[in-house]
Amino acid sequence: MIRDKITRRNFVVSLMKTGVILPIIGKGGMERRLGQGRTKLPLIMTSKTNPAVKEQITATAWEVLQKGGTPMDAAEKATNVSEIDPRDPTVGYGGDPNEEGFLQLDASAMDGSDHNNAGAVAALENIKTPCSVARLVMERTDHLMLVGKGALQFAKMHGFKEENLLTEEARRHWVEWKENLSNRDYYISPRKKHKLEEGGTINVLVLDEKGDIAGVTSTVGHHFKIVGRVGDSPIIGAGLYVDNDVGAAGATGHGAEAIKVCASFLAVEKMREGYSPQSACRYVCQRVIDRHGGKPLFGLKIVALTKNGDYGCCSIRGKIHKETGKVIGLGFSVHDANGHRTEAGEAILPPMTEEERKSIPWR
Ligand code: ASP
Repeated sequence: MIRDKITRRNFVVSLMKTGVILPIIGKGGMERRLGQGRTKLPLIMTSKTNPAVKEQITATAWEVLQKGGTPMDAAEKATNVSEIDPRDPTVGYGGDPNEEGFLQLDASAMDGSDHNNAGAVAALENIKTPCSVARLVMERTDHLMLVGKGALQFAKMHGFKEENLLTEEARRHWVEWKENLSNRDYYISPRKKHKLEEGGTINVLVLDEKGDIAGVTSTVGHHFKIVGRVGDSPIIGAGLYVDNDVGAAGATGHGAEAIKVCASFLAVEKMREGYSPQSACRYVCQRVIDRHGGKPLFGLKIVALTKNGDYGCCSIRGKIHKETGKVIGLGFSVHDANGHRTEAGEAILPPMTEEERKSIPWR
């Protein structure tokens, strides 16, 4: 067998090509790539970029830390902001319902400082803040996940109030969806289309000055999903993973695919091997793309940070910049000593074409 001669130079170059290490430019300066950063601790990172809540989310986490709260307190309170905001169709109260018109929420929590303990709820109904229930499953039971009726009973036992989570806006959106499903039923669709706030499942990753990490993921899941469907968000290792020795990662997008590759766990394991968060996120996205012959008909975004404050984000598919017409990565938000900012992540593929969209069997 002929082996390549491995010199120090071609070894380093090959690591750079795979993204395991980044090229150094200038004197001691690390090349900045999209969605790639390093910051002074503490650091808060969220998948959220929608104008209405993104700053409020990170500012809430920041304030909790400043007041002496733990990363877990900060991640929970920040996620609650999105969960109780009715304008966001993808998280908590005001989210789009399932196909029968009621909401079933999924959430998870992981606390690095508590031996990477974890808790989750799935298909939880009538509770506005599912991530707080997930945290209690972690802290007040020896189980990891409660679902459906049991999760609701547990929430009520801890004093959570049952509430109707379906807002008028979400109800109208659901009716519109039903009316447009088929031209072989008796519903007639309205002429005017609904306009919704930009949204997306929320991941919040918090790293404090001591290097402790916590994470939370919360979602309504897919809009108009089949009753009982559970996505990646409450699955530890898929929608969220924290390892206090290494870092944390969260996934948003097509949950089934995040589960199939254990997306968040995989990203953290790659960082453990020495990948930067950016290359770890890219690795996971590429892995998913490869599973689908290079043409995935869905989106997936991974955010990740390391214990020392490096962070990164990559999505399978990007979006088109309104002014330049160029493909850009999906965004994420961070908050550190310099305040809040939204950054663009990296995208591997352009957005789906109209043709690709039409070819999706369930659309
Ligand atoms: N990952 C979520 C799920 O599959 C949905 C999303 O992020 O949009 O439930």
